[in-house]
Amino acid sequence: MPQEKAAKAPVLFVGHGSPMNAIGDNPSRKAWRMMGEELGKPKIIIAVSAHWLTRGLRVRRSESNPQVNDMYGFPRELYAVKYSPAGSVSMADRILEAEKGAIDVDNTWGIDHGVWSVLSNMYPSADVPVVMMSVNSLASPREQYAVGERLAALREEGAMIIASGNVVHNLQMVNWRMRGGYEWADRFDENMKRLVAERRIDEIISFDQITDSDLAIPTTEHFFPLLTAIGATTTDDKLTVWNEYRELGSMSMTSYLWQ
Ligand code: ZN
Repeated sequence: MPQEKAAKAPVLFVGHGSPMNAIGDNPSRKAWRMMGEELGKPKIIIAVSAHWLTRGLRVRRSESNPQVNDMYGFPRELYAVKYSPAGSVSMADRILEAEKGAIDVDNTWGIDHGVWSVLSNMYPSADVPVVMMSVNSLASPREQYAVGERLAALREEGAMIIASGNVVHNLQMVNWRMRGGYEWADRFDENMKRLVAERRIDEIISFDQITDSDLAIPTTEHFFPLLTAIGATTTDDKLTVWNEYRELGSMSMTSYLWQ
């Protein structure tokens, strides 16, 4: 019997920022809740996390997702958040096929705070299965983009792609007393937004040529999920920029939705 064709699922890049955004009263949490309600529940989520950094690309192939609390020294309330949605062996197999030999199964990691901080607010009942994918520390920016290109077809099968990181992420320069962003952080975020909106892919991939990139992207793990997200989109997708603000001086929360 022919399977019913699912509508093409959206792609999200989510700026997650401080783990504390998962709880309490803050604009990101509000935006995440609203986004979940607006989009409704997809069949399944493929989550690419800045906090799962591996040498070579990895996917979790399991029917479960143990929660990983990979953040230290935060208040007890944060560790009280419990989020452990199902995984999916069959979707992991689809990803393994799509990425053709350039990926390995790794069940040593679960759903980390880069993903659960967002999803526990988007889909609080944890009833959408999630397949976790890593960021490959050995990949070039172009290779990280190509990972997304190969995932794009899975959107037709109802898989929402959520890449979690931050466009601007400089831990050395975090200022806990600062609400907005440093001037360079605002500028870089604004420049990147223009490139994303205009789909200037080559310039995005060559991000190290952009002014202030040394401050905005001192390490690539939080930026790389954006490359994978864009890779999974096409010119047919309509872009929405959301949650556009900076926090702690050196973090951009700017997020993107393609649908
Ligand atoms: Zn992070």
